[in-house]
Amino acid sequence: MIKNVSVNEDLGLLLDLAGRVGRNPLLTQASTGNISLKLDGVLWIKASGKWMADATAGRILIPLDLAGVHASIRQNLDPAGLYPSASIETAMHVTLPHPVVLHVHSINTIAWAIRADAAAQLETRLDGLRWQWIPYVPSGLPLAREIARVLSERPDTDVLVLGNHGLVLGGKDCQTTENLLAEIESRLAIPPRQAHPADYAILAELAGDSTWDLPDDDAIHALATDPVSRKVLEGGFLYPCQAMFSDARTPELFHAVDAPGAARRPFVMVKGCGVLLSRVMTPAEIAMLSGLAHVVQRIGPSVPLRYLSEDEVAASASTAAYRYRELANASHG
Ligand SMILES: [Zn+2]
Repeated sequence: MIKNVSVNEDLGLLLDLAGRVGRNPLLTQASTGNISLKLDGVLWIKASGKWMADATAGRILIPLDLAGVHASIRQNLDPAGLYPSASIETAMHVTLPHPVVLHVHSINTIAWAIRADAAAQLETRLDGLRWQWIPYVPSGLPLAREIARVLSERPDTDVLVLGNHGLVLGGKDCQTTENLLAEIESRLAIPPRQAHPADYAILAELAGDSTWDLPDDDAIHALATDPVSRKVLEGGFLYPCQAMFSDARTPELFHAVDAPGAARRPFVMVKGCGVLLSRVMTPAEIAMLSGLAHVVQRIGPSVPLRYLSEDEVAASASTAAYRYRELANASHG
C-alpha cells in the first residue's frame, strides 16, 4: 500500500504545490487547509495536524484506499473518524471528483465568506468561473453532503466558496489547480486597512517580567489598535478556527480591555495599545491569531457580517477541541 513518495512524479508535484501554498500565510495558517491527489485507487491526503508548509521537508501525506473512503461515506461514517490520522476534511476531498483537490483558509476569501451578503458579492467577482456558494455547514460529513448536493446540480463545478470557512478548488492536475487559485486570489483580493501601530512602551510596561510576550507578527496588534477591527470582533465568532479559542472561562476573549488582569488567558488585546501573548501559546495558535488579524483588517466598517450562531459555536466545540489537539500536537519543522 505504501508507495515510495520520492519516486512518484505526481506526488512530487503535489508536495511542491502544498509547500508553496503552506508557506503563504494569506492562504493557510498552521495546520489548516489540506490537499489531496486521487491516484490509482489511492487517496493521498494531508495527514491531520501536519502543516502544508512542511510538505517538502517531511511526510505530510497519508495513503487511503479510495473505495474504502467512499464506502464509509455511503455508510454515514466520517472517514476522518475511521482513519484518525487523516485530515478532518477527508470526506470533502473524496466528494469532489477531481484528481487534485486543494482546500485553503484564504484570508481574502474568508473576508468575503463571512459577509451576510457574500453570495451576491461573489456573484460579480467570480463571474465566468464554474463556482458555487455553500452557506456555513460544519466540517466532516455535513459539509461533504452539501458539496455532493451542489455538485449534483452542476457537476462541472470546480470552485466552492464555503461560508464562514474558506475555499475549495478541484483540478485535473496541480498546475490547473494552482492557476485557478491565482485567478481567484486576484479577483477576491482586498487591500488591508492600515492599523494604528502598537504602543510598544506601554505593552512592555504591562508585560513587565510576567508571562506575557510580544507577537513576532506586528499585524496581530491591529486586533487591539484598530477601532473597526475591535468592533467586528465584539460581534462574535466569524469562523470555526476563531471559535477554537472559545472558552467559558474567558467568554470575552476577543473584547479589548484596558489592562491584562489576573485571569489566565492565551492572549490579551489591550485597547489602543496592542496584543500580548501568553508564553504558553503554541506556534499554531499564534498563526491562527495572525490570520484573524489579517481577515478583520479586510472588513470595512459598514460590511454586513454573518457571525456563527451560538449553536454553531457550541456544535463546533467537539471539532474545535479535536482541531485544538491537532494544532497543539502539530510539529512544525
Ligand atoms: Zn477548512
